[in-house]
Amino acid sequence: LPAAAPELSVRDVTVRFAGLTALDAVSFTVAPGSVHALIGPNGAGKSTCFNVLSGLYRPASGQVRLGDDVLTGLAPHRIAALGVARTFQNIVTTEGTVADNLMLGRHVLSRAGFAATALRLPGAVREQRAHLERAREIAELTGLGARFDSPVALLSYGDRKRVELARALCLEPRVLLLDEPVAGMNGAERLRMAEVVDAVRAQLGLSVLLVEHDMGLVMRLADEVTVLDFGRRIAHGTPEEVRRHPEVLRAYLGT
Ligand code: ADP
Ligand code: MG
Repeated sequence: LPAAAPELSVRDVTVRFAGLTALDAVSFTVAPGSVHALIGPNGAGKSTCFNVLSGLYRPASGQVRLGDDVLTGLAPHRIAALGVARTFQNIVTTEGTVADNLMLGRHVLSRAGFAATALRLPGAVREQRAHLERAREIAELTGLGARFDSPVALLSYGDRKRVELARALCLEPRVLLLDEPVAGMNGAERLRMAEVVDAVRAQLGLSVLLVEHDMGLVMRLADEVTVLDFGRRIAHGTPEEVRRHPEVLRAYLGT
């Protein structure tokens, strides 16, 4: 098993867009090897939080750390190299085969340069073969083994969502950020994704930060839950604690 992920900590992070505070001094930590869910109504700031964690947005104040490394202010590729990978709320992949898409993820890790790979120098060929083998393992783990050489465009919606997950895993992350992994899925596809996330966590030993509207999935997968509403943290605890929290009921039911 790989070494456990370091703790991911979000400290007093504030993000403003012209006149709107999308995140207001939000703090939480993702414990090593745990699944932490970030929930809240539409517009609560969940995707903004992911964009800060992955380096797409720079917060006005506050800090994100992974173990001893400060992530705030780093470019997205540096954050990915430190072990934080994400999926997006909407599918971004429509071209190539499953293998092509997973190999794109592996290229970031390649030590041989582009020229060496293009010229098929022996070291580069060996490395390429190792990457392909690992991509195939990740496809198996995410339930895409039989689809490895299929064009992504021909896959079902559920399969394509798992391609997004598999591609993020190809970066060998220590922390995985999943933005609404079962959005738009039917019941069977949701169950499949839940099983895959369980397997990924057990076999790869990584931590997961999960944004999800499906409360059944959150209850099943999460060890801890942080609830946002209008950019502020309104509750935190175990799924059971959060579900009964009066502020959470108010935010969700509008009572
Ligand atoms: P969630 O993912 O919880 O639904 P978001 O993080 O997408 O919420 O959005 C939080 C708030 O910030 C919303 O009011 C949204 O309109 C606003 N927002 C998000 N991204 C931007 C942006 N790039 N520019 C301006 N406003 C934004
Ligand atoms: Mg969102």
